[in-house]
Amino acid sequence: MAKKQFAVIGLGRFGSSVAKYLAEMGYEVLAIDDDEERVQDVANIVTHAVSADSTDEEAMRALGVRNFDVVVVAIGQDIQASILTTLILKDLGVPKIIVKAQNELHGKVLSKIGADKVVFPERDMGLRVAHHLISPNILEHIELSPDYSIVELKVPSSMVGKNLKQLDIRVKYGCNVLAVKRGSDMNVAPRADEGIDAEDILVIVGRNEQLTKLEQAYA
Ligand code: ADP
Repeated sequence: MAKKQFAVIGLGRFGSSVAKYLAEMGYEVLAIDDDEERVQDVANIVTHAVSADSTDEEAMRALGVRNFDVVVVAIGQDIQASILTTLILKDLGVPKIIVKAQNELHGKVLSKIGADKVVFPERDMGLRVAHHLISPNILEHIELSPDYSIVELKVPSSMVGKNLKQLDIRVKYGCNVLAVKRGSDMNVAPRADEGIDAEDILVIVGRNEQLTKLEQAYA
């Protein structure tokens, strides 16, 4: 199967790191910005780097943007340009459009006009940092939907020496232990009699409020 091809529009901090990472992972990446200097910064890393205004429909058509599987719109400050670009990409028939939003209202507009995914990097990173301050045992938090998440929990000392049956997380909190990480090993089918070691990390899925209860109980 052919590898997915990506285009990234807007090469600020967010867009350039998306473009660079994809290129480093071996994917074909077209990077676009109307600032020539930004284009030059990634020119040696990505497959093609082009200076163009993404609000110019003809320019986008000429670059063949519609042939890319996924287009990431990472225009930060200029909300009008971000919205217009998304509309143009939608009209051109781009299969998947991912757009960075500046704020909730911007995000709402983007969803309404057909963005397939809207991301809020600053908001999400802020939440992550705050969450980590409150729950230092939570190493990772992945939002599956507004109500459900997967967390990585560094085992607190009160869990050490017990097994999963004794902890009874499923019954007490309605959450499920998906895996137990031990060093570089990952047990993805932990048994009920699996004993918990001090350095273990539990990967748990559940409803957000149940996960919070679990975190607080073992804080
Ligand atoms: P970040 O917060 O991720 O650093 P910025 O707002 O600094 O984002 O960067 C957005 C990038 O998008 C800038 O490099 C800017 O030149 C580019 N950009 C803004 N409007 C357009 C446009 N109409 N066409 C192409 N690139 C654009």
